[in-house]
Amino acid sequence: MHANHSAHDEELRLSALRRLNVLESGHEERFDRITRLAALSLGVPMAAIALVDRDLVWYKSTRGLPIQSLPRSSTFCDGALETDGPTVVPDATVDARFARLPIVAGAPHVRFYASQPLYAPDGRRIGGVCVADTQTRAFGDEELRTLRDLARIVETELQVGVLVQSRSELANDLDAARRQVFIDPLTQTWNRAGILEILQREHARARRTKTLVGVAMVDLDNFKDINDNHGHLTGDRVLRTAAERMIEAVRPYDAVGRYGGEEFLIVLVEREAGRVASIAERVRANIAQRPVSMDRKTISMSASVGVACSENPLVQQDIHHLLQRADDALYSAKRNGRNQVVFAN
Ligand code: GH3
Ligand code: MG
Ligand code: MG
Repeated sequence: MHANHSAHDEELRLSALRRLNVLESGHEERFDRITRLAALSLGVPMAAIALVDRDLVWYKSTRGLPIQSLPRSSTFCDGALETDGPTVVPDATVDARFARLPIVAGAPHVRFYASQPLYAPDGRRIGGVCVADTQTRAFGDEELRTLRDLARIVETELQVGVLVQSRSELANDLDAARRQVFIDPLTQTWNRAGILEILQREHARARRTKTLVGVAMVDLDNFKDINDNHGHLTGDRVLRTAAERMIEAVRPYDAVGRYGGEEFLIVLVEREAGRVASIAERVRANIAQRPVSMDRKTISMSASVGVACSENPLVQQDIHHLLQRADDALYSAKRNGRNQVVFAN
């Protein structure tokens, strides 16, 4: 049946309109520029960008006609939507389709109306660019071409909005996903996967640019005792404080990550092995500098640090070897009495 067919078409048309996400975005200056230009270039007092929704026509922008929406049945646009090409009404009072519209029979007593349909990217008609006057007038080919050009500009603007929006949503999604995948929720430093990713990248770069990459393996001393004496929650807060003190001690381009439990890995980008050692020492000193005070308690903390550097950059050495050497150095630091830095030879 014809009615069913057109109801289906109408649903497709409405979903094309919804996909543009313009009904909710409110007033936008970029569309006002176009209605201003339409009124000026065509010498009419009224211009509008109309989007035809299920029951209402939404005016995305108007010029000389301060309305936001009208019931579909009381607009020119509803009738104009039926036609594929432009609609030109030189005198609405003598046009049976429009003579009884409230804006014709009453204020502002529209006489002349012209519109060019707006198409969604899938080719469905979603509204129109309209101009109107309170006086009757003729509308030639030149004016029709201008109106069509303006409609194409509006369509471009409508699509730009969609593209910008989908790109920013994608960026947000990626950020959120990356945050989840690579950040440790307790300390807000990189997690193991994150810091290993950074190490891999810096290691490759150091090899290309013939510089160094240093790693410092930092393990809190006797942390089990802190948990046992003060509880796991306090232990968590001490861990957070330790992470903050590590970040304070390194440079902005170094990276701190929680490698596991109470063990952290710091990736240091440096030209000289001596600098790597001194920054590792700064990290150790900053962790141990003063007790952590919380809940009227003071808790001493310290850490042992094992450091390794990607030796001669010409020597092929993978990050696992580098990490193994740092780990061995850390083990030596523990065995030698803790709260110290040991440099892998
Ligand atoms: P060492 O100086 O030899 O490193 O001694 P340690 O006590 O620090 O080492 P050990 O490996 O015996 O204990 C580490 C403790 O860290 C055990 C574990 O329960 C605790 N731990 C690991 N992850 C967390 C955490 O997320 N929160 C808290 N509160 N404790 C943690
Ligand atoms: Mg420990
Ligand atoms: Mg440990």
